[in-house]
Amino acid sequence: MMQAPKLIAGNWKMNGLAADLAEVSLLVDSLSKAAVNCRVALCPPSTLIARMAETADGSIVEIGGQDCSAEAKGAFTGDTSAAMLADAGATLVIVGHSERRQGHGEDDATVAAKAEAASKAGLAPIVCVGETLQQRETGQAVEVVRRQVMQSLPLALSGQSFAVAYEPVWAIGTGLTPTLAQIEEVHRAVRRAMIERLGLGVAVVPILYGGSVKPDNAAEILAVPEVGGALVGGASLKAADFLAIIRAA
Ligand code: PEP
Repeated sequence: MMQAPKLIAGNWKMNGLAADLAEVSLLVDSLSKAAVNCRVALCPPSTLIARMAETADGSIVEIGGQDCSAEAKGAFTGDTSAAMLADAGATLVIVGHSERRQGHGEDDATVAAKAEAASKAGLAPIVCVGETLQQRETGQAVEVVRRQVMQSLPLALSGQSFAVAYEPVWAIGTGLTPTLAQIEEVHRAVRRAMIERLGLGVAVVPILYGGSVKPDNAAEILAVPEVGGALVGGASLKAADFLAIIRAA
C-alpha cells in the first residue's frame, strides 16, 4: 500500500505573540530552499491563526487550531467554532489534547463531538489520545488508548480527512518518552481500533506520536512502524528545532 506522507504538526499551546511570527518566516524561508518529504503544520493560539496563515501563505505549512467548540454558533462566551478557525485560515484542528481533557474536563464524548464539528466545517481534526503514568505503570496503556479511540472518533469521520495523535500524558513536556517498542505496540493498537470503528478506509490515516519529540530523538521515533508523523510541543516554537524534526521525517 502507498505510504501517505508523514505529518509533522507543531502545537504552540498558549505561547506566541506577533513578534514570534518571525520564527514562522524563518521556517517558511528554509522550507522554500529544499524539498521535504512530509507535510508540515503549525497550530498557534487562535489569536495568531490569521496572521500565521498570512505569513505561511504560498508555503507548504498548514495552519491549525488547538481546540474548537462542538457547537456551531451562539451564546458560548470565550469559545471558538470550527467554522471561525477555518474562516481565519486554519485547515486542521487539534481536539482532545490531554491538557483539554485534564484541565477542562473534556471526556471522550465531548472530544468526539468536537471532531465531528471540525470535520463538518471542513477542518481535519487531529484527535489526541494517551494514557496517564498511573495507567502505564499498571499495564493499562493499550486498553485505555483503545477505549479512547473507539469513543473519541465519531462515525462521521468515515471517509473524511483526519489524524489521530498518540500522546502519553506522562511524556508531554517532561523529556520522557516511551520505548520504541512501546510506541509501536500502542500505534498498532490504535490502528486496529480505528479500523474496527471506521472500517478499512482508515488504513492510511496518519497516527502521530507526541510527547517530548526533539531533534535528537525524532528520526528513531518517526522510523517506528505505524508512526505517521509527530505532534510536537516545545520543540515547535523555534524554527531551527522544528526544521530539524521535519528533516528527520
Ligand atoms: C504536545 O503539546 O502535544 C506535546 C507533545 O508537547 P511536548 O512536545 O513539549 O512534549
